Amino acid sequence: MIFKTYMKKKKMVEQLLKQQKIDEENRRLMWYKWLEKQLDEIDKIKKNQPQTLIFTFEKRVEINLNEGEYAENCIVCKNTCHYPCYKNGKIFCSVMNDGQCTICQGTCNWKDHKSESFRYETQYQTDEIRPDVDDFEKKKNISLQYHKLESKKLIHELMILGKRLNRIPQTMTEFEYIEKMINNEFSIEKEGKKQALQDIKEQWNEI
Ligand SMILES: [Zn+2]
Ligand SMILES: [Zn+2]
Ligand SMILES: [Zn+2]
Repeated sequence: MIFKTYMKKKKMVEQLLKQQKIDEENRRLMWYKWLEKQLDEIDKIKKNQPQTLIFTFEKRVEINLNEGEYAENCIVCKNTCHYPCYKNGKIFCSVMNDGQCTICQGTCNWKDHKSESFRYETQYQTDEIRPDVDDFEKKKNISLQYHKLESKKLIHELMILGKRLNRIPQTMTEFEYIEKMINNEFSIEKEGKKQALQDIKEQWNEI
């Protein structure tokens, strides 16, 4: 009777331990994914560059014509509808159709037009806003530091868990554990993650 109870208890403990191991294995995988996410984030932030914003302005300028040259200008649109045109083109100008201008965007009448000795020209000017590089670098470093600290914590926890699950040698140090990840898990097509790990390893004591 006592033996039977003992065996039952033993089985219960065994099952409990088995479940615990499964839980820990799942946790290990979850933490591992988190670490990968942190490393990706580090890689992404590192590649961020301050961007210069470029704006384009449109400017209408008046260009004086040579002696004896004329342009048919619309005074409503401030646009040259025909150049070179002859003196006093107006209704007889070739761009007019039944007294309506075919160039003007709206429904400008020939009466809105003037024969002038200058033409309008659209010029484009660009202007740029340069980012505050110091401020950018400061913010970049703050977020990098955050993700490195998160990674450091995860590496530490993963190593402890790895030892408990006998996945890595009990004597392994954090540096050796990172080395192992660099050489095995992150060696193929994971250059960014690998480099992030390398950074963490080098800055381990400052993080
Ligand atoms: Zn017009
Ligand atoms: Zn004309
Ligand atoms: Zn016109």
